[in-house]
Amino acid sequence: MSTQVYERVALIGLGLIASSMFWAMKRAGLAGEVTGYARSSETRDTARRIGLCDRVCDTAREAVADADLVVLCVPVGAMGPVMEEIAPVLKPGATVSDVGSVKRHVIDAVQPHIPEGVHFVPAHPLAGTEHSGPESGFAELFDNRWSLLVPVEGTDPEATARLRALWEGMGANVDEMDADHHDLVLAVTSHTPHLIAYTMVGVADDLRRVTDSEVIKYSAAGFRDFTRIAASDPTMWRDVFLTNKDATLEILGRFTEELFALQRAIRTGDGEHLHDYFTRTRAIRRGIIEAGQDTDAPDFGRSLKK
Ligand code: NAP
Repeated sequence: MSTQVYERVALIGLGLIASSMFWAMKRAGLAGEVTGYARSSETRDTARRIGLCDRVCDTAREAVADADLVVLCVPVGAMGPVMEEIAPVLKPGATVSDVGSVKRHVIDAVQPHIPEGVHFVPAHPLAGTEHSGPESGFAELFDNRWSLLVPVEGTDPEATARLRALWEGMGANVDEMDADHHDLVLAVTSHTPHLIAYTMVGVADDLRRVTDSEVIKYSAAGFRDFTRIAASDPTMWRDVFLTNKDATLEILGRFTEELFALQRAIRTGDGEHLHDYFTRTRAIRRGIIEAGQDTDAPDFGRSLKK
């Protein structure tokens, strides 16, 4: 029995997410032919060398012509221009999706260019690493992770169901969510934590009394985890904050209030406040492990990933 979900899939942008999708689709035989396009000839050459995609094309239009599914895997800020570029050659009945970390902005930038008779089903896999580029992907990235589908008004349920089957075939659990709610949830679970990690590493870098070599040599688990997150791709994260402005500022405001409350508790020696707070947050970590979204191993299961 064939598990093929789409005959032809085109991946635009060939970084961590696209390359992981390619290997995951191949693992399960979900697509007949996968074409790919990346902006730089260097990335296209690398893709050809490592066998990433059945066919690597020199233009985005060439890659999407005849595709039944086109997935935009470029930084959020590039989604609109890329969509505008490919719109004239899309096959009637094809589905366009994306993997962007922000949904309202992508929908506003992409939807106006979707031609009549082409479906648009935005998506966001909640899986990643701090690595980027065509060689960073691996087939297991989406296993047991969530992928959120964010269908826009009027989306054909058949097109959404088919994309769901693809993500499930790549190992993900799939949920549907409204775009604004998605952006708020992700501001809490991903975007603001990244900003805090960037800040903490920046502070350590600025602290001249603690030398660089000391920061690296005595790097304890807390700081080490921050540095891993703060090593994420600068272009991707710049775009996330520029395009999920309201939700990130809302969560940052709340974060700052809590930080001041903890600061006051430290100053006034309010151990009870600190203990109660840390007890509450510890329960969240347990919940994440019980939900199978991380492991209890000392390295948080990261050795399993590339
Ligand atoms: P990546 O590894 O940095 O790859 C990005 C790809 O997009 C590269 O092939 C790059 O081409 C291409 N690209 C960059 N700017 C472009 C432009 N202006 N026009 C055309 N192509 C352009 O990125 P990624 O981590 O796979 O992320 C891709 C998308 O997935 C982003 O929207 C991100 O928000 C989302 N996402 C990321 C993660 C994560 O943890 N990394 C998780 C979930 C979703 P060149 O190589 O030729 O420069």
